[in-house]
Amino acid sequence: MSTARYWREIPQRYRLESGKCKKCGKSFIPPRMVCDACGSREFDQVRASDEGTLVSYTVIRVAPGEFSDEAPYAVGIIQLKDGPRLTAQIADCDFDELEIGKKVRIEFRKIYEQGQAGVICYGYKGVLV
Ligand SMILES: [Zn+2]
Repeated sequence: MSTARYWREIPQRYRLESGKCKKCGKSFIPPRMVCDACGSREFDQVRASDEGTLVSYTVIRVAPGEFSDEAPYAVGIIQLKDGPRLTAQIADCDFDELEIGKKVRIEFRKIYEQGQAGVICYGYKGVLV
């Protein structure tokens, strides 16, 4: 990920911020410009719930670029309590423990270090509860 994109996404990454449609109430992570349910362009920024359920997952064994040192790791789609879904790495788990429907808590973790300058990027990861 580029540094510019990383900084632009900081509100979502640090506060798990979702965009909640003012018209129909559907929420999105990351926030979108246009609601795919009703076409509205007006959103409230809402702190999303950090509790959710595992909807789907996969184990990445050959990882791209900056994540190559971490492979193998699990990535899951998490349905949050208050509506939006997000994709996040599932940290600290045995892959045998992964199961659709399991409870997941979103935690703020180090994602990767960038280059020799060691810029450390933070973001959210899922943890089985
Ligand atoms: Zn809407």
